[in-house]
Amino acid sequence: SIPLGYFGGIGRAAREGILVKGSNYLDALKEASIVAFDKTGTLTKGVFKVTRVETRNGFSEEEIIRFAALAEAHSNHPIAKAIREAYGEEINEAEIVEYEEIAGHGVRARIDGTEVLVGNDRLLHRFKVEHDTCRVKGTVAHVVINGKYAGYIIISDEIKDDAPLAVKELKRLGIKKVVMVTGDNKDVAGEIARQLGLDGFYAELLPEDKVRVIEELEKEAQGKVVFVGDGINDAPVLARADVGVAMGALGSDAAIETADVVIMDDKPSKLPRGIRIARKTQRIVW
Ligand code: ADP
Ligand code: MG
Repeated sequence: SIPLGYFGGIGRAAREGILVKGSNYLDALKEASIVAFDKTGTLTKGVFKVTRVETRNGFSEEEIIRFAALAEAHSNHPIAKAIREAYGEEINEAEIVEYEEIAGHGVRARIDGTEVLVGNDRLLHRFKVEHDTCRVKGTVAHVVINGKYAGYIIISDEIKDDAPLAVKELKRLGIKKVVMVTGDNKDVAGEIARQLGLDGFYAELLPEDKVRVIEELEKEAQGKVVFVGDGINDAPVLARADVGVAMGALGSDAAIETADVVIMDDKPSKLPRGIRIARKTQRIVW
């Protein structure tokens, strides 16, 4: 027997740009009780801009931006794009002798004879580089040149216009808990959580930590746990959640493939819309 109602529900969701990959996910959406959003590209625009460069140990702003842009030449991370844009010059690929992206940390590269690190506190800790602990409103990318701390680049992102509506609608639907999980620092995460009125946030997480947070939320949830992400580094989290939702337009191919639900236009408010449609969908079996 074919539950005809599901075709109705899935079709209706699809017409609104919400692709549900099976009737079981429509059922799960109906029972959603906790929603966890990724930050970058999901609640925020994911369009970063360099807003400040702070220099240390005699390095110049130009050196920092140039080496950072070259080191980030092959990264798809929004931070990398912002740094390349701030540099503004054509990048000579031949100069990049070695390149390694370390998920949740940053990048390490060799530019001609120069060893360059660009990333967060965790990256510097890993390579045992002493640096300032700066408390700034924004995402920080530290830059290390030949083992010396050269300074940091402040990169700012903005909350999506649609994000406040998404949170409000989820609350209106009776979702118990709306939280954010992010690899970014506590200051940035706390400020966004406050502005959006979230029930909580988990910051400074590695992709595997995000999986662990989802598992804990699943233990405490009365119903289903939904994770919404843009999928950059987040494919394991999308796979682990009861319902993994990917933002389609910005998201990676891996994310779209792994996700149970894909939101085509990157509006987080499509999630409450999808839950509403799921709740209205009746099982009509013939
Ligand atoms: P989120 O999407 O929650 O911000 P990510 O796992 O994509 O989480 O990134 C976590 C953190 O790792 C970023 O906030 C940044 O500090 C650092 N990072 C990751 N990739 C890069 C990169 N290419 N360049 C600099 N920093 C990076
Ligand atoms: Mg991300």
